[in-house]
Amino acid sequence: MKTGKMAVMTGVNQPFQVENYPILPATDGSVRLKLLASGVCGTDLHIHEGRLGVNLPACVGHEFVGVIDDITEQDSLQSGLVKGDNAIVCIAVPCGKCLLCKTGDDANCVNMGVTNGKPPAEPPHFHGGYGEYTFAPPENLIPIPRGLDPKMVAVFACAGPTTLHAFNLAAKAGGNLEYAKVAVVQGLGPVGLFAVMLLSALGVPNVVAVTGRENEKRAAAARSLGATHVVSLAKEGEKGIGDLVASLSGGLGADLVFEASGNPAAVPVGIHLLRNRGMYLIPGQYSDSGTVSILPQLITFKALRILGSSQYSIADVKKYLSVLENTPQMHSKILDLASFYPVEEINAALEAAAKGENIKTLLA
Ligand SMILES: [Zn+2]
Ligand SMILES: [Zn+2]
Repeated sequence: MKTGKMAVMTGVNQPFQVENYPILPATDGSVRLKLLASGVCGTDLHIHEGRLGVNLPACVGHEFVGVIDDITEQDSLQSGLVKGDNAIVCIAVPCGKCLLCKTGDDANCVNMGVTNGKPPAEPPHFHGGYGEYTFAPPENLIPIPRGLDPKMVAVFACAGPTTLHAFNLAAKAGGNLEYAKVAVVQGLGPVGLFAVMLLSALGVPNVVAVTGRENEKRAAAARSLGATHVVSLAKEGEKGIGDLVASLSGGLGADLVFEASGNPAAVPVGIHLLRNRGMYLIPGQYSDSGTVSILPQLITFKALRILGSSQYSIADVKKYLSVLENTPQMHSKILDLASFYPVEEINAALEAAAKGENIKTLLA
């Protein structure tokens, strides 16, 4: 039987092992895709470092696109998907029964399952994103429109829906982001960069991108996606960034701060930058990176609106695809952010991603 490669995580901070597994046929409820691109997420690095738990050995990876390679007649009839369709795989399996699911908030399901959690030894073996193939239920596949390059789609396949979900929560809480005059984005990883692109596309006139250390590659990427100002804490300092935001906002402070750095130290900075009634969106603190002290008085005194956001749902993935369809001028810029590695170079890919050498690391 033909086999395919998979990069298997066997231990915390241990090199991944590239193993071969038989490529089994699709079965009802389990579509086979040949992977076209699979992102290395900050979350994957945190799993590898032992900061987020996972059962080992594991095929990790949760942000991937593929081409449908085998699908049963029944699944094809029911889903409308056919062999040759490109699709994003959304790994989330909300329970559909809990309070959150029943009130239209399935991204925050309290009994959330995933499609990529099974061990590699269990057929059909390819459950995650770090392999040449993957299997997923048809309801977890979101077809990619024909006009979109699936590798370009893969660049923000997780960051895009993550950001859009946070923006959607902001809108539900009455945050009209398109009316913001000054928005600050903390952190220029994929989530921060996508937020920069969205805020710019919404017409926000001042999009201030903040990095920790100076990084010309990320600064250039932020500018290419629409940041009007790029500053670093190392160079400008908190005071310099505060002065810039004050000058752009007539002394008021930022209408919106979007935390995408994952660094707890960013949070008190963000609180300081906001104007009265400003909104703080925090999708960036997904992994436990420790504690930080804040001045709670500012939350009350400035009457801040602080919103967390974590997972996303299939609706956000669909929205992501429609954002891409509506921004054709950005496609080549997005693809320029990607560095691709074959599956067998997984350890080099992870090392480069951990060092922050690439803007977006993907297997392809
Ligand atoms: Zn991700
Ligand atoms: Zn649920």
